[in-house]
Amino acid sequence: MSDRYCVIGNPIAHSKSPLIHAAFAAATGQDLQYERCLAPLEGFETTVRDLIKQGYRGANVTVPFKLEAARLATRLGPRAQAAGAVNTLIFADGEIVGDNTDGPGLVADIVRNAGVPLGGKRILLLGAGGAARGALLPLLSEDPRQIVIANRTLATAEQLVADFAAHADRLAATGFGDVDGSFDVVINATSASLAADVPPVAPSVFGPGVLALDMMYGNEPTVFMDFAASHGAGVRDGLGMLVEQAAEAFLLWRGVRPETGAVLAAMRQAG
Ligand code: NDP
Repeated sequence: MSDRYCVIGNPIAHSKSPLIHAAFAAATGQDLQYERCLAPLEGFETTVRDLIKQGYRGANVTVPFKLEAARLATRLGPRAQAAGAVNTLIFADGEIVGDNTDGPGLVADIVRNAGVPLGGKRILLLGAGGAARGALLPLLSEDPRQIVIANRTLATAEQLVADFAAHADRLAATGFGDVDGSFDVVINATSASLAADVPPVAPSVFGPGVLALDMMYGNEPTVFMDFAASHGAGVRDGLGMLVEQAAEAFLLWRGVRPETGAVLAAMRQAG
């Protein structure tokens, strides 16, 4: 019988992860099944324990369970520890190991797929929630000159900087209205696009030569991407990040990192 994995969330019907992992399994010759798993809002732990009983080898975790997954894990990898959130679970030897591949997926998409190295660069990170927190350590590992974290609630951005005190010389927290200077890369890690909102930063942030990436994705460019493009920036949605975080999870489970280029192209075409 094939090894079984799934993605746990609520809602979950929209998830593209089964398509991505099926493509990875076919490309690498790995024998596995990957499904969607809807967990009741109050039933994440029960769902995980049930999957383990059924012999599942691991799971991805998505909204709204990433923080709960971090609490449930019996062991956390350093990326999950830094993020305080888990998007990948490994069930092995009676342990529930939690990791976080969202940040590495983001960095892989920027550096490899978009071809934008981050070393020495100035990065504007919009948002200070789970996705921004998970992105911080992988972004810092690329040795940027500075990361400015701007958030609607300033105190949350300040807390994030305080939690990464070892990197304080390269981090700054601010409100959207106080962002100034120029940036090489602007990352929208807010969920504002869900409400068709654009974080109110100065349009001058998005000049030519700037890469503006929205972690959100959909069939159409997000309002953030439209706004950034109208002020001269190159734009990217979060689909590449999604495929790359899946490849990192696949690597953790199967010991092989699948090629992502063809899968990303196919996902874009499928819409
Ligand atoms: P959280 O709920 O943890 O954080 C939300 C963040 O967005 C907070 O900083 C919040 O600010 C801010 N925010 C919410 N609404 C608005 C608004 N209208 N205007 C300005 N700021 C706003 O969410 P996550 O961090 O988990 O996710 C953020 C986004 O990233 C989501 O859209 C998610 O879909 C996407 N994502 C994409 C992934 C991918 O693979 N492509 C992976 C993970 C996430 P405040 O603190 O003031 O409330």
